[in-house]
Amino acid sequence: MQHLVSPVGIVRSCFKEKFAIPRQPHLAPAARGVLELLPPFDQGEAVQGLEQVSHVWLLFLFHQALEDKPRLKVRPPRLGGNQSVGVFSTRATHRPNGIGQSVVRLERVEPGRLHLSGIDLLDGTPVLDIKPYVPYADCVNDAHNAMADAAPRLIPVEWQADALPLARQHALRLNEPLVELIEQCLAQDPRPAYQQPEPERRYGARFWDLDVHWHYPEPGRIRVLDVQKAANIA
Ligand code: SAM
Repeated sequence: MQHLVSPVGIVRSCFKEKFAIPRQPHLAPAARGVLELLPPFDQGEAVQGLEQVSHVWLLFLFHQALEDKPRLKVRPPRLGGNQSVGVFSTRATHRPNGIGQSVVRLERVEPGRLHLSGIDLLDGTPVLDIKPYVPYADCVNDAHNAMADAAPRLIPVEWQADALPLARQHALRLNEPLVELIEQCLAQDPRPAYQQPEPERRYGARFWDLDVHWHYPEPGRIRVLDVQKAANIA
């Protein structure tokens, strides 16, 4: 049996590539985006009542991780990328039907547009459905998950002297909490766990229209080196 689904909207996100996106929502509250609804859901009626809701569930497609052959086991980055576990025990992106789910903060509702924060979604992510978060049903007080029992440990993020004023200028231009976004995302240590970061090695990721580079002066410590307008963006 097959079902055809089609997106109700597309996320315009601060994250322009997969690298350095937090592994779950809420981990970077400064990660913002807009869910642009597609016809016929772009009319005010479809979102009427949502202004009473602080958070929504998004069901979406991992559109940049779709695969033809289903995997039974995956190697989640959280376990260091070298331990293989059953696909249904993880929230890995490579999964049957490529469906992801995230609870995100609903900052503001407009006809055709939902303003979101705390997202873990790539720019262009197709959203299949939106549901209000229902605290009495969705918040499970005695829940446990021994494989993912706490948020990732944060590492300190420092700035090269001239990088921070640049980031502040871009934050003003974009009207976005850019410094916080960079610090919150890098503090999660996006580097694959199996990689030993040599101090000479530069890492980079794109946030909004900016390329951000950093390095590890020593393992467990990040220094932001520069924040530059991405070359191929007008
Ligand atoms: N909260 C969701 C869930 O549990 O289904 C996503 C968890 S998944 C581990 C989070 C990662 O998915 C992010 O770090 C990012 O690299 C990746 N990601 C986000 N949006 C994506 C997309 N549209 N296509 C492929 N990968 C995506």
